[in-house]
Order: sequence, then structure tokens, then C-alpha cells
Amino acid sequence: MTDANQPLVLIVEDEKAIRRFLKTSLASNGFRTIEAETAHHAIDMIQSHGPDLVILDLGLPDADGSGVIDHVRSSSQLPIIILSARDRERDKVGALDRGADDYLTKPFGVDELMARVRVALRNHARIADRDSKSALRFTTKKLSVNLETRQVKVDGEDVRLTATEYRLLATLIKHAGKVLTHRFLLREVWGPGHADEAHLVRVHMANLRNKLERDTTKPAYILTEQGVGYRLCCDDA
Ligand code: CA
Repeated sequence: MTDANQPLVLIVEDEKAIRRFLKTSLASNGFRTIEAETAHHAIDMIQSHGPDLVILDLGLPDADGSGVIDHVRSSSQLPIIILSARDRERDKVGALDRGADDYLTKPFGVDELMARVRVALRNHARIADRDSKSALRFTTKKLSVNLETRQVKVDGEDVRLTATEYRLLATLIKHAGKVLTHRFLLREVWGPGHADEAHLVRVHMANLRNKLERDTTKPAYILTEQGVGYRLCCDDA
């Protein structure tokens, strides 16, 4: 039984068994699905069906899946979750650099899949909502940031950030919930020409965490995605 109000997920995967697993898991959790086996077919399906989310395998028979990301990102913020093989770490990071939202490493289970899908859809809705209201305040747990006055508070106390730390935090807020790679952050915060200076991110991120986090070994706000980058946690709970 399908309902047009259920979110539509495009599954882009050439391996039939994985496609079937995705389709069954999504369908039993209240999602409608459509499928594509190649990058070209995926782009056609995105244009003709306007899905709410794309699950994208990077190793496709006709082209690298990252071309699909470039195509989508040239015109929209449609959420993209990439599927990557464990031994293709660089491809995964490259896809996130290009603007994919999140990733799943094969093999993965239904619970992990559904968690990632729900988070990506929620973040997308939140960003759209924020853009429409042009809300200037970001709040999660005890962190509150006024993006107009640049005032940052943790647990009601003012936190003084350097200009770079603030830019880093504002970039994380702009993409809250999404995995941001070192390269993406370098481009957004420091600008082009700093692509190989990952140490900049590490140093300023450490300082930012020292100012925001109660316990930097168990961060509540800025989570580390091992070997990839960072994610601002934006659970309201
Ligand atoms: Ca494949």
C-alpha cells in the first residue's frame, strides 16, 4: 500500500541484492521507492520524478556516482546518502567533499539505514524551514547562537570566539547534521587555496570545542566522523 504523501526515495545501485534489500527496508518503514541502475538513469529519474532523497552507490557501471552528486548540487540541496565499500575510503570522502549529506558503509543493517534516512530528511526540512523564515537563531541542547549579532552562549553564559572560530561554527550551523569533510570546511571557512592545510581545521576546531564542549573527549555538539571530518549534532532533545 503506497500513499503519495510518503517520502519518495530514489535507490541508485547496480547490485540487485542490495537494491532489493533497500527497497524492502524502505517500503516496510513507510517510504515509496524508485530505482536506477546507472548514473545516467539516476539523473533521468531525478528530473522526471523529483524524489525527496537519493541513496547513491558510488560504483556504477556507466560512470562514477559522484557525477550524480555534481549534477544534483548544481541546482538543489536534495539530500544524498552515499553507499560506499569499506575499501573505498577516498571515494567516500571525495563524495562528501562534493556535497553528499551522509554515507553508509557496506554492509549495513536496516536500523542504520533508517536512522541515516530520517536524519537526512529531518535536516533537509529544517534547513528549508530556516531559509523560508530566515531565522537568525540556532539552538541545540545548551548551545545558542544568534547569527545576526554573532552572540554565542552555552548554558546561558557568553562564549567569546575568534573570527575564525565563529566562521567555523557558522559553517557547521549552516550544514547542521551533515558530515563536513576537512576539505569542505577549508573551502568554506578559509577559501580556495588552502585545500591541503587540514591542520588549520584541526587547530581551530580544537579551540572551538574547548570553548563549547563541557567534555571535549565526549563532545555534545561537534562530533568527529573518523577519517572524514565533523558533524554538528542538532538533536533538539
Ligand atoms: Ca556498485
